[in-house]
Amino acid sequence: MKRVLFVFLDGVGLAPAGPSNPLSAHDGTSFQRLAGGQSWHHPFGETTTSTHLVRPIDATLGVDGLPQSGTGQASLMTGENCAIRVGRHFGPFPHSKTHTLLDHNNLFHQVQGLHSTHDAPAAFANAFPPQYFNAKRRRSTVTTRCCQAARVEIRDIDALRADRALPADLTGQAWRDLLALDVAHRNPAAAGATLAATAQPHAFTLFEYFLTDKVGHNRTDTPPHVLLAQLDEFFEGLLHTLNPARDTLLITSDHGNLEDTSHTQHTRNPVPLIVYGWAAPHFTEATDLTDVTPGIVRALRSCLVD
Ligand SMILES: [Zn+2]
Repeated sequence: MKRVLFVFLDGVGLAPAGPSNPLSAHDGTSFQRLAGGQSWHHPFGETTTSTHLVRPIDATLGVDGLPQSGTGQASLMTGENCAIRVGRHFGPFPHSKTHTLLDHNNLFHQVQGLHSTHDAPAAFANAFPPQYFNAKRRRSTVTTRCCQAARVEIRDIDALRADRALPADLTGQAWRDLLALDVAHRNPAAAGATLAATAQPHAFTLFEYFLTDKVGHNRTDTPPHVLLAQLDEFFEGLLHTLNPARDTLLITSDHGNLEDTSHTQHTRNPVPLIVYGWAAPHFTEATDLTDVTPGIVRALRSCLVD
């Protein structure tokens, strides 16, 4: 079975190199390799081979104002322009005008539609702590709403301990320090290997990493260069384990933020689209966030007829 693994990075755009762009200063080997031998900044040179596609894509969706996660992620997860649908950028939670779409035709549903005989063709690899499941009221993000609607398992601490899920911060440090949960430390490279193993039984797996946006908003103590070094190790662990003939690693974002530390808001910058693996040719026409879901579905459908 061929697979697509979508690593969603929240708040990572492409800005010109400079002192307020930590991504341009980061020359980690995995970042460079994923981007075809360049740092992640504007101008972002394109790569188009049969197993690797790199290009900037638009995250403004043709709507004024600063892009937000609610409409941006909903566009990524449905292939519909949700900023146009809502009439503005909205976030961080999904806007009510996108609920029906998310509840009935999100990316998980579309993958399930292709693999009707597989009991879990689509998966979400993030682990959630007991506090999430025990909360009396919890507000769904775009991704948790998509999972609930498509009956995709939301993985828990047992899945994390069994190495079939990842903590959102990769290392589990927040689970230990902030939630006082007894979970083992794992280094980011090991987290990358765990994600590759977690994705193994599924045609499509999503992992969501939001610390990039949090650091861009200056809501954590972690300096950007430390976060980027961790992410680089994580990608190294992933790349080491993936086989581009069978696996495709797709990386993109919903809007810019971290690439401009001169302020703590989102940006209107383009975001990187990186497709590393066999599915790359299905994204040669991609220009904005709405092209991600159709490309994934097209790629997975093409394996069915092969
Ligand atoms: Zn944000």
